[in-house]
Amino acid sequence: MRAAPTSSKFLIILLIISFLSIPSAHITNMKPVGEFTPAYNEPLSIILMIGDGMGFNHVELARLVEVGGLGSLNMQDSEWNASVTTHAANAAVTDSAAAGTAMATGTKTNTGYLGMDPSQMPLETILEFAQTQNKSTGVVSTCRIIDATPASFMVHTNSRYNYDDIAQQIVESDVDVLLGGGLDYFDSTQISIMISKGYSVIYNRTELASITSGQVFGVFAGYHMDYEYDRDYSVQPSIAEMTNKSIELLSQDSDGFFLLVEGGRIDLAAHDEDQVRTALDTIAFDKAVDVAIDYVTDHNNTVLIVTADHETEGLVVISHNLNSELPGDLLSEEDRRTLRAERANNVTVDWTATYHTNWPVPLYAFGEAFSDLDEDLLIDNTDIFSLMKDFYLGNPLNETVLSTTTSTTTTETPSTTTTTDITGTTSETATTNSTEPTTSPTDNPGIQFDSPLLLAISLGSAIVIIVALVLIKRR
Ligand SMILES: [Zn+2]
Repeated sequence: MRAAPTSSKFLIILLIISFLSIPSAHITNMKPVGEFTPAYNEPLSIILMIGDGMGFNHVELARLVEVGGLGSLNMQDSEWNASVTTHAANAAVTDSAAAGTAMATGTKTNTGYLGMDPSQMPLETILEFAQTQNKSTGVVSTCRIIDATPASFMVHTNSRYNYDDIAQQIVESDVDVLLGGGLDYFDSTQISIMISKGYSVIYNRTELASITSGQVFGVFAGYHMDYEYDRDYSVQPSIAEMTNKSIELLSQDSDGFFLLVEGGRIDLAAHDEDQVRTALDTIAFDKAVDVAIDYVTDHNNTVLIVTADHETEGLVVISHNLNSELPGDLLSEEDRRTLRAERANNVTVDWTATYHTNWPVPLYAFGEAFSDLDEDLLIDNTDIFSLMKDFYLGNPLNETVLSTTTSTTTTETPSTTTTTDITGTTSETATTNSTEPTTSPTDNPGIQFDSPLLLAISLGSAIVIIVALVLIKRR
């Protein structure tokens, strides 16, 4: 057997080096996929707080009243913020049912539908997913607990007005903490079932304060709970107190929890174009947010998302005539309420629509998990589900695929004729479901050439192989 010439040996060695260098270049540059291990020593928990109908100007009205022109509300001191598009599957202007379902399930649906897609297929909600992870769950609302926003996380039905069905599904939902109004929608048999399941069924603020553990069904009004402006402090708990008690109870679960808190009456005050009650219910909601922030600050296994389901009545804050005395300067709760009402009346506003609008709504997020996300994105309400689900799965949130709608492409006319557009905001609306992600999807293979040097090595290797093969063939 004839020995290979020296030049052939050299080419064979070159080939071997080249083959070896390509995979090694790839491996050293592989992006870790699915290797996120959160540095949390506690189970993952989520607090989602929805101000019903709370647009940017509802927040602005509350801010002026509570902390003045230079202050900021608790919710505004967030780790990360975004604007959120809210359109429904079948309408440019959503209702609370479709918007709640979008946040609860990540799927756009028709107005009026709860927990199901437009073809009426039931969808697992983030609350139900939390239950499958053995987490405790809670739902709080200042409205009836059977209302669209709370129900969209617990119930699957094709009409938000199927009250009997909704009440029965809530009784069967095994949600551990249920606090709100709507006692009139539950009959004595259903209350007995709750008691036999082990729930403490309670009816006032004093009873709520005395609960220290276990499942609880607190119904503090036959219909909605009172507006904060009208609340009898001795009977009904505040939304902050309900939030605090829910966290106290749910956080006892070593598997973590999911809590939904709805400031439901912001929307109803706005429908009445009542700026005092709109301001005071938004401020009360912000006090509840503060309670949740305190918990999240001490527990890096928990995230807090504060947002709205839609904007209501096209509220625009125009000007104000406010002095420097702030409600926080006063000692008694009653005095603070009186001053808040006075200040709210000294803000000039315009209600430019007669129903909800399709204006984007604010999102304020708290918790370490949000620290790597880009600021000020325009996301869709279905993205809120994706962020929550990814957090529960231990995935880094900066890799969550967000359907950011940064371009302003829509001129679609809102299908609800009662809705009015106002100058300067129509350009921000998104009535089509544009889903161009601006972040890189993370589920592609890990071979990427982030470094020009590695790219050059790999290309060079390929050229050497080709040249070597050509030379060998010529021999
Ligand atoms: Zn409404």
